[in-house]
Amino acid sequence: MAKRDYYEVLGVSRTAAADEIKKSYRRLAMKYHPDRNKDDAEAEAKFKEAKEAYDVLSDADKRATYDRFGHDGLRAGAGGHGGMGGFSAEGFGDIFGDVFGDIFGGGRQRGSQVFRGADLGYELRLDLEKAVSGDTVTIDVPTQVACEPCDGSGAKKGTKPVTCTTCGGAGQVRMQQGFFSIQQTCPACKGAGTTIGDPCDTCHGRGRVRKTKTLSVKVPAGVDDGDRIRLSGEGEAGRNGGPPGDLYVEIRVNPHKLFEREGADLSTEVPISVATATLGGEVELPTLDGHVSLKVPAGTQSGKVFRLRGKGVTTVRDARQGDLFAKVAVETPVNLSAEQKEMLQSFDESIRAGGEKHSPRAGGWLDTVKRFFDRISQ
Ligand SMILES: [Zn+2]
Ligand SMILES: [Zn+2]
Repeated sequence: MAKRDYYEVLGVSRTAAADEIKKSYRRLAMKYHPDRNKDDAEAEAKFKEAKEAYDVLSDADKRATYDRFGHDGLRAGAGGHGGMGGFSAEGFGDIFGDVFGDIFGGGRQRGSQVFRGADLGYELRLDLEKAVSGDTVTIDVPTQVACEPCDGSGAKKGTKPVTCTTCGGAGQVRMQQGFFSIQQTCPACKGAGTTIGDPCDTCHGRGRVRKTKTLSVKVPAGVDDGDRIRLSGEGEAGRNGGPPGDLYVEIRVNPHKLFEREGADLSTEVPISVATATLGGEVELPTLDGHVSLKVPAGTQSGKVFRLRGKGVTTVRDARQGDLFAKVAVETPVNLSAEQKEMLQSFDESIRAGGEKHSPRAGGWLDTVKRFFDRISQ
């Protein structure tokens, strides 16, 4: 039986890129895999055909030979390349390693493995004022950096790491388990592909050393508790030539004596005297940018909230300008002299004589209490 053209088998053009070939093959392999097509001779044949085509087209040398000489070239070993092997059980293993490996989260690379450095977290405590205005802060971060004397290799100066004898530098070893061969990280070199004969004195072969890095962090204006600033590449050094991780600076805003923050808004409590609440007046109110004068109207009750527009915080996320909410607390006078007590008593008597006219809340409240007990006693 004449062999079909490999490109035709995989349904790709003669100029298809490696990715496209792999994708197409994966689709066919999934479709015709013997596990999914029990006792289906045709599917098995298609599977083998696709596998053979992929073996050739995924190998740059074999593909070049095939492009020049066709099937005959491969069979005859033209151009110095060996002929095609038969279909074997090992072939199945290759499928799982090469094509299904990345489906199953393998993400395997050929050759030794590189490891990205770990991300680090750093908690940065800030006062509310600094969080609102922004700041540049210097922080000390304990981390792992590449060892300088050995340039991160772990091998003593003048020597080099040698290829791992267990895995031959692949960083991976194959374990045959019945039908499948399974890829595992090489236990001897932990995936690095190399081992160190003569370790560096400074890092003892680890390639990284502990160091406290001093960094300058630009805190943007308006950050809030829990916001994170990412410093790219300032995490731990990678291993085996891998990239470093990132550093995440998490903002923690200290509690403030005067203000509480809720997003863009601030709230504060203002104590005022009984006289100011009763007669009205002006009180000095603190804001984050200095004092403002708050007009308290006559007859202001305790707990009343005044809103000062635009006196809150500009958030870093949406640049919204918040408001300041000032809650009035009417202060009960303490430590009165006998004379003051007497004055207050006589004042209170005149107020009581006026009833609800002077005490609208108490009047309403007393009515409510009376109705409540009337209902209970029925
Ligand atoms: Zn190894
Ligand atoms: Zn070193």
